[in-house]
Amino acid sequence: MSQAKGFAAAAAKAPLTPYSFERRELRDYDVAIDIKFCGICHSDIHQVRDEWGGSIFPMVPGHEIAGIVTAVGSKVTKFKVGDKAGIGCFVDSCRTCEECQKGLEQYCAKGAVWTYNAKAKDGELMMGGYSDKIVADENYILHIPENLALDAAAPLLCAGITLYSPLRHWQAVPGKKVAIVGLGGLGHMGVKLAHAMGAEVTVLSQSLRKQDDGKRLGADHFYATSDPKTFEKLARSFDLIINTVSSSEMDWNQYLSLLKVDGSMVVVGVPDKPNEVASFSLILGRRSLAGSAIGGIPETQEMLDFCGEHNITSDIELIPIQKVNEAYDRVVKSDVRYRFVIDLASLNSN
Ligand code: NAP
Ligand code: ZN
Ligand code: ZN
Repeated sequence: MSQAKGFAAAAAKAPLTPYSFERRELRDYDVAIDIKFCGICHSDIHQVRDEWGGSIFPMVPGHEIAGIVTAVGSKVTKFKVGDKAGIGCFVDSCRTCEECQKGLEQYCAKGAVWTYNAKAKDGELMMGGYSDKIVADENYILHIPENLALDAAAPLLCAGITLYSPLRHWQAVPGKKVAIVGLGGLGHMGVKLAHAMGAEVTVLSQSLRKQDDGKRLGADHFYATSDPKTFEKLARSFDLIINTVSSSEMDWNQYLSLLKVDGSMVVVGVPDKPNEVASFSLILGRRSLAGSAIGGIPETQEMLDFCGEHNITSDIELIPIQKVNEAYDRVVKSDVRYRFVIDLASLNSN
């Protein structure tokens, strides 16, 4: 066992405070990583505040982990000491079900072992990336391309793959019109990735406040959803809508009306309340409503390599860990451009 330190929430809605715990001994296929940076995903906030139910405390959140390998187990072949390495939302899965065999471990029939707020097969309470070190099996760790800055690459491990996977699956290619709803952590990665894939990209944001950023990130068009004319003007416009909104205060039917015939709206945001969908929103246009969760290990590596080739990282605001509670409040107010990333070196300052 090795002693680790980080920040944890002791109970639902409690602020995050300094916390010491133990990381497991290196097993044969384990890799030890010194965590340098960890992104703040809105899912961290949902779970710390127990908005999805069933949260386990104490909780060290964090699943956008970027760091450097410090030790490897005796049978590790994929990593060596000094490598840049990343960990996303899960660190293990059953490895035998159909989904695991296909590299879609996030949909593991027995449930993937999440990076935090979860228990491993042997009962180990998982602790995430708001900490100085982590140990995980090499098969669930990613290589971060050399040319990408570690701090700005950290959010690729969740925000990046969560948008890359549906953009690939629903084929955001040249000639396709793609709308990204919500220009937050996920949304801004969606704009960069869809643009790099060659699609025509529209941002649907609550206001025009972030319009200049949207264009800079690669959007061709930008509309405010607070303006009712937007929905008239854009009716039947899109092949694909990716909905990243974290709040239930939106009418999915309105957004479905923006799809062309045979268009799809893919939901990736996870609000705490269900949304109502009228059959006619789908029927009159042969439209599809779908969902998508992060991505499997092979696709996450493919996304990182794609980002390496295209020099894509996240736009970040780097913060010391002592500012994490303040950062949570700002994310909830949509006041982040566009991902907070924690500099774990700050754990050593008072
Ligand atoms: P975020 O940075 O807070 O972005 C969410 C964006 O949604 C905001 O920036 C805002 O964009 C928009 N929004 C917020 N409240 C809204 C409202 N009441 N009405 C309309 N739009 C609103 O969060 P994130 O980290 O990108 O995560 C977004 C959601 O995805 C969260 O629910 C998170 O749990 C979930 N998530 C899912 C997966 C997955 O695998 N499916 C992975 C990661 C995260 P504008 O300011 O542009 O309007
Ligand atoms: Zn996440
Ligand atoms: Zn499985």
